Amino acid sequence: MTENVVILGGGTGGTLTANRLRKQFSRGELAITVVDQDREHVYQPGLLFLPFGLAHGEDLIRPRHRQLKKGIDFVESDIDRVDVDGHRVVLAGGRELPYDVLVIATGARLVPDETDGLTGPGWMEKVFTFYDLPGATGLEQALRDFQGGRIVVNVVDMPIKCPVAPLEFCFLADWYFHERGIRDRVQLTLVTPLDAAFTKPRAASMLGGMLEDKGVELVTEFNTGEVDGSAGKLVGFDEREVPFDLAVVIPVHSGAEYVGRSPGLGDALDFVETDPHTLQSKVAPEIFAIGDAANLPASKAGSVSHFEGEVLVENITRFLRGEPLDASFDGHANCFIETGFDKALLIDFNYEQEPVEGHYPGPVGLPLLKESRLNHLGKLMFQWFYWHSLLPGRDIPGVGADMPRAGKHID
Ligand SMILES: Cc1cc2nc3c(=O)[nH]c(=O)nc-3n(C[C@H](O)[C@H](O)[C@H](O)COP(=O)(O)OP(=O)(O)OC[C@H]3O[C@@H](n4cnc5c(N)ncnc54)[C@H](O)[C@@H]3O)c2cc1C
Repeated sequence: MTENVVILGGGTGGTLTANRLRKQFSRGELAITVVDQDREHVYQPGLLFLPFGLAHGEDLIRPRHRQLKKGIDFVESDIDRVDVDGHRVVLAGGRELPYDVLVIATGARLVPDETDGLTGPGWMEKVFTFYDLPGATGLEQALRDFQGGRIVVNVVDMPIKCPVAPLEFCFLADWYFHERGIRDRVQLTLVTPLDAAFTKPRAASMLGGMLEDKGVELVTEFNTGEVDGSAGKLVGFDEREVPFDLAVVIPVHSGAEYVGRSPGLGDALDFVETDPHTLQSKVAPEIFAIGDAANLPASKAGSVSHFEGEVLVENITRFLRGEPLDASFDGHANCFIETGFDKALLIDFNYEQEPVEGHYPGPVGLPLLKESRLNHLGKLMFQWFYWHSLLPGRDIPGVGADMPRAGKHID
C-alpha cells in the first residue's frame, strides 16, 4: 500500500527531506507531496553579501520545483490549517491533502509589523532589513549612497535565523567603508537584546573583542519598543534611545501563521512543539518538524536543517515500520562567520557543547574560532554545496549529523 508523506515548506529542510525520502522509498511505497507558498527558492545565506555588492539577487534564486527529484509532487499554495485529528492539511483554496506522515518545514516568518514604527516612515528609505530579498536589494543602494553618519544594526528580539548574521553584517560594513575610504566618517553600532555579542560565552567574548577591535560599538540588553524613522532613533522599552542615519533591523521572527490556526501544533510564537532528539512533534506521533519551524533550543540555521535531515528521514522510516524512533539528534550546528577582509571564523557546537577552539570535522580540518582565509573560502563554497549536495540530500564523506568531538579543545 502506498503511504502519503506531505511536507509543508519547500525551503532548505523541506527540500532535502523530500529528496532523501525519494531516494530511500520507491513511488509505490511512498507518495511525496511538497507544498510551498511560492515558486522561488532563495539561497538565504547569500542575502548577507548582497548589500555590499558581493552577490547579485538573480544568482541566489532557483526554481523551487527544480530542486525536487522526479517523483515528488509540488503544490504551490498557502496553507490554511492542519487538521491534526483528521490527518489532513487544508490548503488556502480549500483543497485537502490527507497524510500518513506530515513534515512541517515552513521555517520562520519575519514579522516587522510587531515593532512600532518599523514599517512606518523611513521604511525602505533609511530603515531596512537584509533578511529578505527586497530588503537586502534596497539596502545595497542605500549603502552605496551613504557618505557618512551613524549606522545601527538592531536585533529586535530572539530567536532569529542565523544569529551570527547581524555580527557578520557589522564586520562586512567595517570592511566595505574601509574599501570606500570613508570608514572614519561612519559610526557602526550593534544593538542587541542579548547581554553580549552572541549567546554562547566563549564565542561571545571572542566576537565582542572583534567588534571592539573594529570600532563597532555594542549596545546590549536593549529591547526595542519603537523604531522612529522620522526622528532617526531606536527607542527601548526602558526609554534608552539610539540615534541613527541608517538602521538595519532584524525583525521579530515567528512560525507560520497556519500553525497558530492548528490547535495544539505550535507554541506562543507559532513554532512547532518538537522533541529535541527525535524531531517528532509533541501534538501527534505522525507529525514531525525540521528546521526553523521547530521550537528546538538549537540555532535556526541551514546547517541544523541539514544535520536534522538524516535523523528525520531515519525516524520517518522507523515510524512507518512501527519501530522505536532514533533519539540521536544532538542539536549539531555549524556556521561560518564572515569577518571581512576575506577572512571568516568557523564555529561548531550542539545542545551541550559550546563553540571552542580546535579543528573541524576532525583533528585535521578547518580551524575553529579562529579567523582564516580558508574559512572564508569555505563560506563562499557553501553556496555550491547547498545547491548540489545539501538540497539533493547527499551525504558528505567525513561529515556526519552528530557533532564531532575529536579535534576540539574541550576542557
Ligand atoms: C540573512 C541570512 C543569512 C543566513 N546565513 C546562514 C548561514 O550562513 N548558514 C546557515 O546555516 N544558515 C543561514 N541562514 C539560515 C538559513 O537560511 C535557514 O535557517 C534555513 O533556510 C532554514 O530552513 P527551513 O527549511 O527551516 O526554512 P526555509 O528555508 O526558510 O523554508 C521555509 C519554506 O516554507 C515556506 N512557507 C512558509 N510559510 C508558508 C505557508 N504558510 N504556506 C506555504 N509555504 C510556506 C517558505 O516559502 C519557504 O520556502 C541565514 C538566513 C538569513 C535570513
